[in-house]
Amino acid sequence: RDPTVKKAGWLRQKAPQGIKYEEVKGTLSRLNLKTVCEEAQCPNIGECWNGGGDGISTATIMLLGDTCTRGCRFCAVKTSRTPPRPDPLEPVNTAMAVASWGVDYIVLTSVDRDDLLDGGSGHFAETVKALKDLKPDIMVECLTSDFRGDLTAVYTLLHSGLDVFAHNIETVKRLQRIVRDPRAGYEQSLSVLNHAKQSKKGMITKSSIMLGLGESDDELKEAMADLRAIDVDILTLGQYLQPTPLHLTVKEYVAPEKFAFWKEYGESIGFRYVASGPLVRSSYRAGELFVKTMIR
Ligand code: SF4
Ligand code: SF4
Repeated sequence: RDPTVKKAGWLRQKAPQGIKYEEVKGTLSRLNLKTVCEEAQCPNIGECWNGGGDGISTATIMLLGDTCTRGCRFCAVKTSRTPPRPDPLEPVNTAMAVASWGVDYIVLTSVDRDDLLDGGSGHFAETVKALKDLKPDIMVECLTSDFRGDLTAVYTLLHSGLDVFAHNIETVKRLQRIVRDPRAGYEQSLSVLNHAKQSKKGMITKSSIMLGLGESDDELKEAMADLRAIDVDILTLGQYLQPTPLHLTVKEYVAPEKFAFWKEYGESIGFRYVASGPLVRSSYRAGELFVKTMIR
């Protein structure tokens, strides 16, 4: 972290609690299922697993292993050009475990797998299908890579039965090269989100931007307008936090009031829902957001 940027008090974590949280945590221990929520010690675990006022609990599971073929400068995930082959039984095993768990909304995500021909989209699609077969009322969001811009891969996933397609543009246009792996890109990400929206009537799309990387207000407005131009429905905005001293430094700790401003601004330009706050992550209370989006 840049020593000149003082870490803000509002980033302190609260201990998780709540009835639904206890229930979800309790049933998890026998399932041999690893959640991103726990592995990443996510500060939102109490809120997500508890599900707020309407009790729609959300959790995130990682598919396709823990080793990424890319190396973004904000992300602490392990990287390799040749990660282990995916486990062919993972889709069905994950589906069985999630279906027997008490969670209402599941976010399936993964590292980038540029080593796989379809970027892993078939593996995602198989998991969604198996899960919807076992538990049709569970809501499923897939937070995916850009599949190298392969629109056939996007199409495969879009027709698997998922409820929400999410792909993060991560930052404003000017900072893409500095923040993301060179194989990612602003236009490519927008094209993937656009294709997802066009591939299936009524598909809900979602994206996320980290703040505090040096973006200006005008650049953020431009990114939000570009997402709206392709009809992205849900936007999440959160504070970038430097995971290790080797990663990009934080340029600014954005105040909660500014996050509140961006929520209002985003909804005024047509997003159906904007979750915006220092600790908001792309899967933050995703189930509640989805339901609120659908009734708006
Ligand atoms: Fe889990 Fe995502 Fe919520 Fe964190 S924000 S607790 S990773 S669902
Ligand atoms: Fe991390 Fe995703 Fe970048 Fe891989 S592609 S390094 S998982 S942010």
